[in-house]
Amino acid sequence: MSTHPDARRVLDAAPRQLYVGGAWRDAEGGSTMVVEDPATGETLCEVADASVADGTAALDAAVAAQRDWAATPPNERSEVLHRAFTLMQERSDDLALLMTLEMGKSLAESKGEIAYAAEFFRWFSGEALRIDGYFKQAGNGQSRVLVMKQPVGPCLFITPWNFPAAMGTRKIAPAVAAGCTMVVKPAEQTPLSMLALARLLEDAGLPPSVLNVVPTSSSSELAKPLIADPRLRKLSFTGSTPVGRTLIAQASEQVLKTSMELGGNAPFVVFEDADLDAAVEQAMVAKMRNMGEACTSANRFHVQESVAEEFAARLTEKMKSLTLGHGADEGTDVGPLIDADQRGKVAELVDDAVAKGATALTGGGVRDGAGYFFEPTVLTGVPTDARLLKEEIFGPVAPIATFTTEEEAIAAANDTEYGLVAYLFTRDLSRALRVSEALETGMIGLNQGLVSNAGAPFGGVKQSGLGREGGNEGIAEYLETKYVAVKL
Ligand code: NAP
Repeated sequence: MSTHPDARRVLDAAPRQLYVGGAWRDAEGGSTMVVEDPATGETLCEVADASVADGTAALDAAVAAQRDWAATPPNERSEVLHRAFTLMQERSDDLALLMTLEMGKSLAESKGEIAYAAEFFRWFSGEALRIDGYFKQAGNGQSRVLVMKQPVGPCLFITPWNFPAAMGTRKIAPAVAAGCTMVVKPAEQTPLSMLALARLLEDAGLPPSVLNVVPTSSSSELAKPLIADPRLRKLSFTGSTPVGRTLIAQASEQVLKTSMELGGNAPFVVFEDADLDAAVEQAMVAKMRNMGEACTSANRFHVQESVAEEFAARLTEKMKSLTLGHGADEGTDVGPLIDADQRGKVAELVDDAVAKGATALTGGGVRDGAGYFFEPTVLTGVPTDARLLKEEIFGPVAPIATFTTEEEAIAAANDTEYGLVAYLFTRDLSRALRVSEALETGMIGLNQGLVSNAGAPFGGVKQSGLGREGGNEGIAEYLETKYVAVKL
């Protein structure tokens, strides 16, 4: 258990039951599951473990509430979201500590996530007021075209452990704004942050049954019948590409509307004309945010040969200066990875690269002792057949490969099934735009290592997903278009 003075209080106050139909209740049969502190491997607490019947009860509640919620005035939906935004800021310290305890990231990172997560409430509070349609004369002048937007209906949200709050608000806020009801299934490792969000939305005045939260240790068993249920109208998933593929296949049975925020393999491309100080600083942001456990994490660095050695040396210096520790301890820069499996996967990828000829300039292994720590690592001389250039690392490892020409850089950056985000560093405007056009990704960080922004469309192409979250596009995922042909 963390020695943070508020840890016990925050944990004791955290809701641990299911939130279904506006009531906090135990799971069927009183089942519970363990939540672990990844920095120590110790049990933090137990949380209600929803059964398939609990999942169905949550959908029943969402379906029953859909009609009334869709009819609620936009002003009221907007006000609920704005109150949620304010409450999230007020509760930021406690929400951040709770997140750090169950997920491991440093308190500073958790606070950053809470602030980011709250922005979706603010943004969609505004969007709730801007849902529109149009009315026009048909081309032949004989009739009129009336187009209206309506909420898609009850939604199922499945979220990952790496951003336990933001991956929730990015779906919940637009759904609330659009007038949809929902069932949320958070990741097994991090249910506490989502339950705390449910409490916050309840306090913000969200009516009962609009949001239902069912943590479970049986995610596929719980989700499958919900996805097959014709009353469900939308599935939004954030997680790995393999699970996304499975869910898309399941969703095809009901031709369910889906949004998929899947895996990434972000290239971080540095040209010799880049501001190298900025590139190194932003490389740290793109690589080390969330200990590398981010879909947007820079997975591989492609650096022009003439500046590669300098870039590697400066990045190594910065990585060496980081302090590993319990996320809730003062002075910690880098927390643990989420669990032993994740740490094992990172170690396997690093071992594979080293066996194929890469050199570790710093780090390269797990940290001994309790918790799932992996050393911040920089690898150079990474051969093209190293697995970590192709697979999502999800850890604090920066592999550096070199290129000589712009064409080579573009080809290397695009050589992946993923297409979420790329980072591009150059001071040449023509090159910046040319390469941005050529990169096969949904987002590009141009001379910056962070793209997440509630007011911008987040999402990927290729096998990184379908749809966009945030921005002007975000609410469209929760609206259907209805056309009425009007004979006057
Ligand atoms: P994951 O294994 O795919 O799990 C994500 C969620 O899906 C969890 O809630 C999990 O529940 C649930 N799940 C797993 N198998 C399921 C199934 N068969 N049916 C229904 N639900 C199922 O991913 P993760 O390891 O938690 O998260 C890391 C991945 O998320 C990475 O690939 C990362 O790139 C991606 N990600 C993408 C974005 C984006 O916006 N593109 C953002 C963040 C993360 P359990 O916890 O019970 O297994």
